[in-house]
Amino acid sequence: MPEGAFEYCDVSLPVPLDQPFTYRLPLTLRHRVQPGCRLIVPFGVRKLTGVAIACHNSPPEVSVREALRLLDEEPVLDERLLALGRWTASYYCAPLGEVLRAMTTPLGGEIRRTRVYSLTDAGRDAARQLLLGDPGEEPAVQLLRLLENRPLSAAWLARKVPQAERAIRSLVRKGFLEVEDSHAERDPLRASSARLRVQFSGRPAGVKLTKAQRELVAYLELHPGSHNLAELERAVHNAGPAARSLARSGLLTFRPEGPLLRSQPARPPHKLNPAQQEAFDRIRTAIQSRQFHTFLLHGVTGSGKTEVYLCAIEATLAHGRGALLLVPEIALTPAVAGQFYHRFGDRVAILHSAFSDTERAGQWRRIRSGEAGVVVGTRSGVFAPVRDLGLIVVDEEHDHSYKQEETPRYSGRDVAIVRARDHNACVVLGSATPSMETRYNAERGRYVLLRLPERIEKRPLPGVELIDMRQEFLETRQQATFSRRLLQAVRERLDSGEQTMLLLNRRGFSSFLVCRSCGDRLQCRNCSVTLTYHRRDRRMLCHYCNYAERVPTLCPKCQSEHVYFVGQGSERVEEELHRRLPVARVARMDSDTVTGKRHYETILHAFREHDYDILVGTQMIAKGHDIPNVTLVGVVSADIGLGMPDFRAAERTFQLLTQAAGRAGRGQIPGGVLIQTVNPEHYAVRFAAAQDYDHFYEKEIQFRRAMRYPPFSALANVLLRAPGREDAMRMSTEIASIFGPAQEGLRVLGPAEAPVPRIKNEFRYQFLIKSVSRKTLNEILHAARRFALDRKWSPTALVIDVDPLSLL
Ligand code: ADP
Ligand code: ZN
Ligand code: ZN
Repeated sequence: MPEGAFEYCDVSLPVPLDQPFTYRLPLTLRHRVQPGCRLIVPFGVRKLTGVAIACHNSPPEVSVREALRLLDEEPVLDERLLALGRWTASYYCAPLGEVLRAMTTPLGGEIRRTRVYSLTDAGRDAARQLLLGDPGEEPAVQLLRLLENRPLSAAWLARKVPQAERAIRSLVRKGFLEVEDSHAERDPLRASSARLRVQFSGRPAGVKLTKAQRELVAYLELHPGSHNLAELERAVHNAGPAARSLARSGLLTFRPEGPLLRSQPARPPHKLNPAQQEAFDRIRTAIQSRQFHTFLLHGVTGSGKTEVYLCAIEATLAHGRGALLLVPEIALTPAVAGQFYHRFGDRVAILHSAFSDTERAGQWRRIRSGEAGVVVGTRSGVFAPVRDLGLIVVDEEHDHSYKQEETPRYSGRDVAIVRARDHNACVVLGSATPSMETRYNAERGRYVLLRLPERIEKRPLPGVELIDMRQEFLETRQQATFSRRLLQAVRERLDSGEQTMLLLNRRGFSSFLVCRSCGDRLQCRNCSVTLTYHRRDRRMLCHYCNYAERVPTLCPKCQSEHVYFVGQGSERVEEELHRRLPVARVARMDSDTVTGKRHYETILHAFREHDYDILVGTQMIAKGHDIPNVTLVGVVSADIGLGMPDFRAAERTFQLLTQAAGRAGRGQIPGGVLIQTVNPEHYAVRFAAAQDYDHFYEKEIQFRRAMRYPPFSALANVLLRAPGREDAMRMSTEIASIFGPAQEGLRVLGPAEAPVPRIKNEFRYQFLIKSVSRKTLNEILHAARRFALDRKWSPTALVIDVDPLSLL
């Protein structure tokens, strides 16, 4: 509890302005608000949730409004997390309020859950009378007195007033209180099917059922036990509505589906092999020293990095400290989570975006209270309030999902390192294909390099074969998606009951509509991009703004009827596969088929269970999955990323190909990888095929050094956007004055049209800024923000991306 009462509070709000806003605290809040607590305050006509960053008694010069509601009795962000928030805001040039909001997103849902009581008019009258006369200490009287000033949450009242609940009930009955309730949110009947388990207790006598209900009941009688509703819907026609109506009349019970991880089979710890042991020993020594150290655990795919993480976490717990494991967004599957759950039991908290708000908020609380000392989470997990943090592991540290592609554009990996330094904690960055930056830091001795050079049990790395598609064309005279060699290999796997993964890349596997007369491609009307044909709903779709239109029969430009499709959509690839291999059971996984995270897990689970022979998908399938029966990985085209106007193109291609290859042969049966390409001599393709990281790194680092790209410079991307082309151009010319005049060690490229010059009806110009000095870069970017604020540009006009991974 803070000492004394404060009349004012400075609140950082999620708005594009830099300063905090001062609010007066109502009497009831004066003792309770502390820095790090969230408050709801009025802002213009809106109500916003912000974070208190200071409480004081110095009256502001202007008149201020009153804060409305306190959401936390205890700070959700402690001093150190607030400091980390300030660092993040400054380094990434983002408004502090937006950073603090990103840090507290796991708690978002609680706001709606809170039950808040306020006085009705009758209650207000009663309170006034009481306060005049009766100084009594009865709960009801206390409640009325407290509520005189402000609506208050049930939880808070329960803490302040003995037997509050009963008194509240009686006041509600008398009509003195009203409640702002949100039970509907939690009504289980409204939850999505995947999140519900159905329990059937027995056939009701004498109740008339509809046809669908009868069918469902018949099925449930044949299959006793509880069922996931989504699965029931697949098994029984109309099961969803039937189950919901049966539940409403009380004949079925629903309960929320527990986190899937509990159903994972336990796996006993492995005895570390010598390389794992050596790596672990080094990490353990560092943990014991209680000093900041950063390790790069560079282990080939299947070398057993996870086991090293688990041991490191155990060692951290043994020291009474907490540990945080970050994994890429898509890799946080129940299988991964389950491993941690089984090793650490109830000490694990999982921050999974597929969990409901309530679940996530619950996990957050457990972390804060210290009940959960091991946290597994994705990018935003880096801000989890782990008690006495001693270790942060960043698995697949090269993964691009650690970078948030919206404000605040932070990198979870890099924030992790800063956070660990502040806590005297250790960091372990793990990868089979470390980012150039990380490996370079290891080279320079800033990180300690630990290597796992071999797969577990000396299993061979998969043999990789390049298939030259130019040669294939010369021989077959056919522009086929699949080479004869790849088809043959898939067939062999089918015959032997083994599984195949086929990697497509969305961008390259799209169909466009082209006019043969005028040569025009059908474009989005809001963005300067070509529309993609989606066979499933027979529409032309924009991947940037979701604009959709029907497939035209005439060219919109020249009215010619000679419009035709070019390119191969991933749907078409799937079709071609069906045609060539009719018996194969094919699952497809890309952003079209995978909408929710749960769905993604469902497909993966089914594939793991061998419900499918072939999994076709985009990058998603290349990420750290461990499916032993996959003995063939086919890359349909290695070339797609290489043509991109992006200095990371080679690195990205190398990582994707190596990681994809790493999915093969992880079980007892050795695996093979086939990569189709028209660039077999490109170094990214060649070294990926040889799974030779070191030579790739050597070659790539020379290029980066010569071109002064990261890690040899600090890089930022600055984007200006406006609905009119003139405005966008004018702004970029104006702001160019901030970036010039030429300085030693600073290079400003631009303004130039952005790679996609128009998105969602906004014109886009950009600068790429390279600076030898991180400090200079940071100063320039902050100056640019001030410039935009001073000129009152629209808050979305200027986008600053520090350490960008994509070119916006
Ligand atoms: P990586 O993350 O390095 O690609 P994993 O951590 O997924 O590799 O490990 C690959 C497989 O080897 C997993 O199935 C894991 O359970 C197993 N494994 C790890 N360490 C050992 C060990 N010391 N002995 C036997 N099996 C191990
Ligand atoms: Zn035309
Ligand atoms: Zn569009």
